[in-house]
Amino acid sequence: LTDRIAGEGAAAWDIHYRALARQAAGEEITVLSVGDPDFDTPTPIIESAVASLRGGATHYPDVQGKLALRQAIADDYQRRGLKAGPDNVIVMAGAQCGLYAAAQCLLDPGDEVLVPEPSYVTYEAVLRATGAELVQVPLSGEADFRLDPAALAAAITPRTRAILLNSPHNPTGQLIDGDTWEAIAALCRQHDLWLIADEVYAELIFEGEHLCPATLPGMAERSVIISSLSKSHAMTGWRLGWVLGPEALIEHLTHLALCMLYGCPDFIQDAACDALQTPPAELSSMREAYRARRDAVCEALAESTAVTAIRPPAGMFLMVDIRATGLASQAFADRLLDEEGISVLSGEAFGPSAAGFVRLSLTVEAARLTAASLRLVACAERVRAELSPTPATEA
Ligand code: PMP
Ligand code: GLN
Repeated sequence: LTDRIAGEGAAAWDIHYRALARQAAGEEITVLSVGDPDFDTPTPIIESAVASLRGGATHYPDVQGKLALRQAIADDYQRRGLKAGPDNVIVMAGAQCGLYAAAQCLLDPGDEVLVPEPSYVTYEAVLRATGAELVQVPLSGEADFRLDPAALAAAITPRTRAILLNSPHNPTGQLIDGDTWEAIAALCRQHDLWLIADEVYAELIFEGEHLCPATLPGMAERSVIISSLSKSHAMTGWRLGWVLGPEALIEHLTHLALCMLYGCPDFIQDAACDALQTPPAELSSMREAYRARRDAVCEALAESTAVTAIRPPAGMFLMVDIRATGLASQAFADRLLDEEGISVLSGEAFGPSAAGFVRLSLTVEAARLTAASLRLVACAERVRAELSPTPATEA
């Protein structure tokens, strides 16, 4: 297990920690290498947690999660057209914990799980920890990293047990549309597969709509929906997420939670419940801020021929194609940090198909993002000129 959970995923953040260390040492660094909202958690949520603590919520919690919170989560999915109740939900310490637990309950050694690549960096370790194999289904930068269900279909073997999808997507910001979900659902039904859907960015949509795949015919019984308040409510540090699925799976997850987690802190669950029942006004203003930031980066990069941004319809990240510079993406990210004090992640951290791209997080205010984007362009143009100097023209 120790070997299976070490590796590329863990190494992906090296540049981020280097950037933080330099920032801590007093350097002016623009950190665009992590998807952690720069917003504070909305005040009503903090006040609700404090009131709950003051009210004595200091004891062991319900292992599956407080009924009122599970009901509030289920109600949210009911509004999106899914028949779900509190027995379909377990509260977890963030989507990450939910993903790990769900993988443990669903997968056996030798199973194959299809995952579009590039993908979020922890997926590999989460899946491999169970002894299952992650089968990468490459997405193409030329197609803006949009998922083609035919590529998924072609990767199915008798050992395929599940498809793990993330929409809106980290790192590309792509959104799976309704027709694509229908095609994926048909594959799952035809080949008797689980669909694990990581929806942590579902509330951050700029254009288009998020469809919860469990609402499609025959999918509620084979879908595992994983989400959290981390991004939507700027609550990454609170560690509050959930898994929604068939009751039998939730029962297994509760057994696992009993020996692994013993529930999430009661006062955090109370605050989460209030946040879901009375959504704070800040949620839509945060979403609008991400949209304005996305637009600011796209505008700043639009004029350059050294880089090309892929405009994301959702999420909190943006992929920039830097192949025209002639430099590999990790080397470019290193130079960008050294020369401009801007940290981004190399696309390769998310999979080989994103080599030649870097991921920017939309986690600083628009004016600073514009300035950072213009400096990224300057760096890219400098690198390109160095690596392929144009021959001096005769006078
Ligand atoms: N899935 C994806 C795609 C993510 O980007 C992240 C990290 N933000 C997670 C899961 C884990 O989120 P959480 O903070 O809820 O554990
Ligand atoms: N999901 C976030 C990202 O992709 C960060 C989570 C983390 O720091 N592990 O940047």
